[in-house]
Amino acid sequence: MSSARWLTPTSGFLSGYTHSLNPYVGCAFGCSYCYVRRLPVGLFRGEPWGSWAEPKKADPSKLAKEISAVKRKGPVTVFFSSATDPYQPLEGKLGITRSLLKAMAEEPPNFVLVQTRSPLVTRDLELLRTLGDAVRVSMTIETDREDVRRLFTPSAPPLAARFRALRELREAGVATQAAVSPILPHTQEFAVRLVELAPRIVVDDYFQGDGSGGRRSEALGMRGMHAEHGLAEWYDPSVVERLVLQLRKLAPAHEIGVSAEGFAPTPLRG
Ligand code: SF4
Repeated sequence: MSSARWLTPTSGFLSGYTHSLNPYVGCAFGCSYCYVRRLPVGLFRGEPWGSWAEPKKADPSKLAKEISAVKRKGPVTVFFSSATDPYQPLEGKLGITRSLLKAMAEEPPNFVLVQTRSPLVTRDLELLRTLGDAVRVSMTIETDREDVRRLFTPSAPPLAARFRALRELREAGVATQAAVSPILPHTQEFAVRLVELAPRIVVDDYFQGDGSGGRRSEALGMRGMHAEHGLAEWYDPSVVERLVLQLRKLAPAHEIGVSAEGFAPTPLRG
């Protein structure tokens, strides 16, 4: 096993986080809108994004030491993960994310956001509880329309399973949020469903959330994909504004965040 580091210092979009943590390279979910496919980390194998994922070549038992060393210099806030999903299908067999959570239970960072779209996260419920206030699980729920989910992210877990997972975590006392990121065409009941599901909701879109003011999403052909399927009116910055207004009206006590500020580690006001 190589001595590669787990924690990568962040810059740019992940405001409020000192480090990102990616247990895998590549991602089997291969979402159509994923801009990681065009980054060096998505291109180096020369194979289509979504067709491969492999464990990062680093030793999970070293993470606790890394956290401890960085903590000596100041607070450590970790975005887990930024260029893959920590609950890859492979994770069921390899348990690397689980080992990293165990290391964090031993040497907790000041805060870790577990960002996933997989219900496999509930396997680690007890470890997440151990981390207490230092962890929040952010479940991607871009829509409540399963036909839309299948269209844009055919290899990602079904929405119903994500809803169930988020509920289970919340009922077990783990801090959770629903990440509507990027917002996709949805039903009129989406806001009500989100409010019932999570105490904290973060909404983002192609224009604010792709790290380039929407240029990466344009280059990936997202405008064309919406148009091709009769969904052109959904490719518009007003879609986020509309949902945020609905959410704030429906649930003034909920924490509602938008784009990078919504993902930040610090608590938000509604
Ligand atoms: S789960 Fe995340 S990293 Fe993986 S393809 Fe989808 S957006 Fe990209």
